[in-house]
Amino acid sequence: MTQISPIFEKDTRCPICQTDFKAQAIRSSRIKVLEKWDDFGRRYSESVNPLFYSIWTCPKCLHSSGKDEDFTRAIIQEDKVKLLKHYKYLKRLAGKHVFSGERDAETGIKSLVLAAVCYRLKRRSRAMVASCYMRIAWIIRNLDRSFEEEKRWLERALREYTYAMKNEYSPEIGKLSEYGVFYIIANINHKLGNNELALDYIGKVIENKKKVEPFVLKKAELLYDDLKNYSKPVKEVKAAISEVEEDDMGWIYDMDLTLE
Ligand SMILES: [Zn+2]
Repeated sequence: MTQISPIFEKDTRCPICQTDFKAQAIRSSRIKVLEKWDDFGRRYSESVNPLFYSIWTCPKCLHSSGKDEDFTRAIIQEDKVKLLKHYKYLKRLAGKHVFSGERDAETGIKSLVLAAVCYRLKRRSRAMVASCYMRIAWIIRNLDRSFEEEKRWLERALREYTYAMKNEYSPEIGKLSEYGVFYIIANINHKLGNNELALDYIGKVIENKKKVEPFVLKKAELLYDDLKNYSKPVKEVKAAISEVEEDDMGWIYDMDLTLE
């Protein structure tokens, strides 16, 4: 019997440069979940990780975004110009990677990096940028690479989520409630050893039980039980986490994006 590929193609048009191309999509029924992690990430059994395909990238201008995020809505002229103006930087980030056809982990990660940069250029919510970094951390965890490597992306996700929740009037957090995001912030802080901050954020969740999704609350209570044992901060918390400037795009050029 012929096995149906989990990947299929969809005719798409880039909203920035109007190029028609075939984007990859995943048949979710063909993907098996082996394990669900406490930060909502998942381990997959097959070599095809659906996260490799969560971002569509235009082969011409390298505009990258989730399909339902920016490929199905009109983009304002100002943002189009900004994206095209930054083409050479996107090209530099993309390096040798080709985003059509099958993707491996490294190409999947690059597509998420490009999407993060494009969201910043389009001034989308920093929570969307955070979500890209979080997915990169999950891809690395799925490959059983070192925590040090995963940590770099968790730190970036934490910085962006924290910024979004502190500074944005209406952060774009998808279907999750704000308490779901507070839980994620607490979870990442805990993973990074920032237990005092983790306690602060988990407190916001536990104190608002009625407003929290049951599946989030369940995880939040487990984390709270774990954190209660820490009466003192285990590690100094870097104040820098909450001090990200809105228009500072310098990180695009400084980012070390090579994969060890
Ligand atoms: Zn394009």
